[in-house]
Amino acid sequence: MQTQKNISLRPYNSFHLESMASEFIFIKSSADLQNVLEQPGINPALVLGGGSNILLTKNVEGLVLKIEIRGIEELKEDASHIYVRAGAGENWHEFVQYTMKRNWGGLENLSLIPGCVGAAPIQNIGAYGVELKDVFYELEAYDRKEKKIFSFGVNDCQFDYRNSIFKTSGKGRYVILNVTFLLHKNPVLNTHYGAIREELNRMGISSPTIQDVSRTVIKIRRSKLPDPADIGNAGSFFKNPVVDQHVFLSLSEKYADMPAYPHEDKSVKLAAGWLIEQCGWKGFREGDAGVHKNQALVLVNYGKATGQQIFDLSEKIGKSVYSKFGIELEREVNVF
Ligand SMILES: Cc1cc2nc3c(=O)[nH]c(=O)nc-3n(C[C@H](O)[C@H](O)[C@H](O)COP(=O)(O)OP(=O)(O)OC[C@H]3O[C@@H](n4cnc5c(N)ncnc54)[C@H](O)[C@@H]3O)c2cc1C
Repeated sequence: MQTQKNISLRPYNSFHLESMASEFIFIKSSADLQNVLEQPGINPALVLGGGSNILLTKNVEGLVLKIEIRGIEELKEDASHIYVRAGAGENWHEFVQYTMKRNWGGLENLSLIPGCVGAAPIQNIGAYGVELKDVFYELEAYDRKEKKIFSFGVNDCQFDYRNSIFKTSGKGRYVILNVTFLLHKNPVLNTHYGAIREELNRMGISSPTIQDVSRTVIKIRRSKLPDPADIGNAGSFFKNPVVDQHVFLSLSEKYADMPAYPHEDKSVKLAAGWLIEQCGWKGFREGDAGVHKNQALVLVNYGKATGQQIFDLSEKIGKSVYSKFGIELEREVNVF
């Protein structure tokens, strides 16, 4: 374990943004992490997983911890479930594929989400009608304040739509070491999501397996989302706004075709991408910072944009959506 100096973070973020870290270290085990964090005067500036949900707007003056804690372990099982623990540095999609090969259900709808296992609880990742919280059992995290490892059950994590305690009151305090999932030996599929059903029908699959669902999700995602290997991006830049019924009703009187989905407690989730598109941003480009031509929710780096330029573009988008619809967009991406 060696601290490196003046490291470019461009290879470590999916926006491919330049940002220099004054110090950088790979963390390969809990012991590594404890050794580093228990040294006097150490206060890491940034924890990185796969860098697929971060916007680096400046250099990092301080230590970057790149989490590479690996390992997948079957902890226990009962008649219908299996408890599987994965290290925070495991690649998320490879882990999903590992579970698919063993016929353990639960993660199929979350196939092909970039990033690492340790970051998945941070924003309670979700796609195609499933969220991390639906398959979560517990996690272990190092508490930088108490200098101890704690376990967090599902209620401790305070999961919400693209949110958890790790993005709110516990932000910056915990380093996630591993996550344990509760997977199903007799999976119940979640194929209500329109696009999944349509694609399964197109493929003539009437009794899908979890592997079919996973393949379908992969196919849909590849056709819809820009691949960061081709063009820098961090997926959805903003969250879909959740509004009260009365806000929804007054907007839908004016915009009859506005997409909306029922959310918890009778609130309504609107499509941030649609709102942005209505303001004319889809396909917009200013220098190398832009809005994807097919997905208004995805901001992109065409090559040499800086994080600050992408941030400034996101500010302008947020202001125009507010002035047209009176709705404040919240960034999903973590800004550093
Ligand atoms: C093309 C594309 C599609 C995407 N689609 C989806 C989607 O469908 N659904 C979805 O929810 N997300 C999606 N995302 C966003 C992203 O993939 C997820 O949020 C993912 O979980 C981020 O993982 P990461 O390891 O890359 O996190 P990073 O970007 O490295 O980190 C994200 C945040 O978590 C913190 N962090 C990372 N690891 C740890 C750790 N071990 N302990 C404590 N803090 C940590 C970081 O400091 C940062 O604040 C997409 C991104 C891209 C590029």
